[in-house]
Amino acid sequence: MNDFVTKLMSDVTAKNPGELEFHQAVHEVAGSLQLVLDRHPKYREAKILERIVEPERVVMFRVPWVDDAGEVQVNRGYRVEMNSAIGPYKGGLRFHPTVYLGMLKFLAFEQVFKNALTTLPLGAGKGGADFDPKGRSNGEVMRFCQSFMTELARHIGQFTDVPAGDIGVGGREIGYLFGQYRRIRNEFTGVLTGKGLNWGGSLVRPEATGYGAVYFAEEMLKTKGESLQGKTALISGAGNVAQYTAEKLLEMGAKPVTLSDSGGFVYDKEGIDAEKLAWVMDLKEVRRGRVMEYAEKFPHAQFTPVDPRLHHNPLWSIPADAAFPSATQNEINEKDADELVGGGVRVVSEGANMPTVPAGVERFLAAGVLYGPGKAANAGGVAVSGLEMSQNAERRGWSRETVNERLHAIMVSIHDTCRVTAEEYGVPGNYMHGANIAGFLKVADAMLDQGVV
Ligand code: NAP
Repeated sequence: MNDFVTKLMSDVTAKNPGELEFHQAVHEVAGSLQLVLDRHPKYREAKILERIVEPERVVMFRVPWVDDAGEVQVNRGYRVEMNSAIGPYKGGLRFHPTVYLGMLKFLAFEQVFKNALTTLPLGAGKGGADFDPKGRSNGEVMRFCQSFMTELARHIGQFTDVPAGDIGVGGREIGYLFGQYRRIRNEFTGVLTGKGLNWGGSLVRPEATGYGAVYFAEEMLKTKGESLQGKTALISGAGNVAQYTAEKLLEMGAKPVTLSDSGGFVYDKEGIDAEKLAWVMDLKEVRRGRVMEYAEKFPHAQFTPVDPRLHHNPLWSIPADAAFPSATQNEINEKDADELVGGGVRVVSEGANMPTVPAGVERFLAAGVLYGPGKAANAGGVAVSGLEMSQNAERRGWSRETVNERLHAIMVSIHDTCRVTAEEYGVPGNYMHGANIAGFLKVADAMLDQGVV
C-alpha cells in the first residue's frame, strides 16, 4: 500500500468509526486507483478521491408506525446522497434489520462507480431502514412504507434523487412508497424505479440485475472461447436477483443447482428447471415462504440449514463451473473462495454487492478464475432503472425486446470497458481494477469540470 492510500484509509477510518463495510469498499477502490493517481496527478491535486468518499448529503430520520396489535413501533430511516456529478442520485432502498449508516455508505459508494459504468447519466445514492418486512402483514408493510415516505418525500424527486428496490424492497414496497409520494406531492412523476407495469414501470426491470449478471459472465467466458452452455452453476439467495439469474442461466443452457436464504441452502443435483423455478418464484413472491420448503416439495433435493458454528458456507463447496453470489455482502470468505476454486469454478459473477471478502477476491485472481465484481456484473438493474427514467420522461413504454436488447448492449459495453481499462493500466484480466478505474475516471472528470463543489 502506498503512502497516499495509507493516509486516505486512516482518515476514512477516523472519520467513519465502526463502519467496517464502508472501510472495506473504500480500501478496495483506493487500491485500484493507485495506478491512476500515479499516472494523472491532477486527480490527487484536486482531492477527487477525498471528495468522493464524503457523501454530498446524509439524511437520517425517525419512522414511527403502528403494528397490527396496535403497538407503536419506531425504526430508523436513511438516505445517503453520495454523488451527483453525472446525474441525479440513483440507488436502491434496503429494508433489513442489519441496516445502519455504514452499510448504506458502502452501498452508495459502490453505486458511484457502478452507475458511471452503465453509460447513463446516473449519480449515486442508497437508503433504507432497519425494518424487517419478513413476517409482517401487508397492512404493516404498507403503514411502514407510508411513514418512511412521508419523510423521504422531502428529499427526493425525479430530477434530484430517484430510489429503487434492494434487499427487502420489491414490487409491493415500491407500490406503497410510490402511492404515498404521489399523495403527498400531488404529482405523478418517475420518482421511483421498479414501478408496476401499469403505473410507469419498465418491462425487464425485475429481471434486469439477474439477467445482467449472466450476460456479464457470458462475456467473460467468451474471452476464453467458452460459454455458459452446459455449465453447472451455484446461486446464493432466492430473491429478485437470484431468481432471474436462474431464469437466464436456463435460457443459456446452463444448469443452476442451488438457491439459499438466511435459513440455509437447497441443492438440487438434477438442476432447478423452469417448472421448479416457477414454484420458487411463487413461494418467495406470493406465499413469502422459506427455501427449506423446496426440499419438501422436491424430495430428491437436499436442504442444509445454516450452521452458525461453521465460519463458512458449505453451499460454495459443491463442485460447479460457475458461481453467482446473489444474497448479501461478504457471503464468500477466504475458505469459501478456496472451496470454489477447488471445486472447479471457472467464473464468478457477483449479483450481490461486495459478496466476496478481499482475501477471497485475491484467491480468485490468483487461480485465474474469471471474476466479475458486483459493481460491474450487477449494474444491469440500475441500468434498466435508468431506462425506466427515460421512458417516464418520454411518457412512453418500450417493448420487452427493446429494453432487453439495450440491457444486453450495456452489459457488453461494461464488460469491454472493464477489460480494456484493465489492459490499459497494466492489469489485464483484472475486472476489479478495470471497473474501479473506469468508473472513477468518468466521475472524476465530471468533478474536475464542475469545480470545487
Ligand atoms: P431480495 O429480493 O430481498 O433477496 C435477498 C435474498 O438474499 C433473500 O433470499 C435473503 O434471504 C438473502 N439474504 C439477504 N440478507 C441475507 C443475510 N444477511 N444472510 C443470508 N441471506 C441473506 O434482494 P435482492 O434484490 O435479490 O438483492 C440481493 C443482492 O443483490 C443484494 O446484495 C443487493 O444489494 C444486490 N443487488 C440488487 C439489485 C436489484 O435490482 N434488486 C441490483 C444490484 C444489486 P432472507 O429472505 O432469508 O433474508
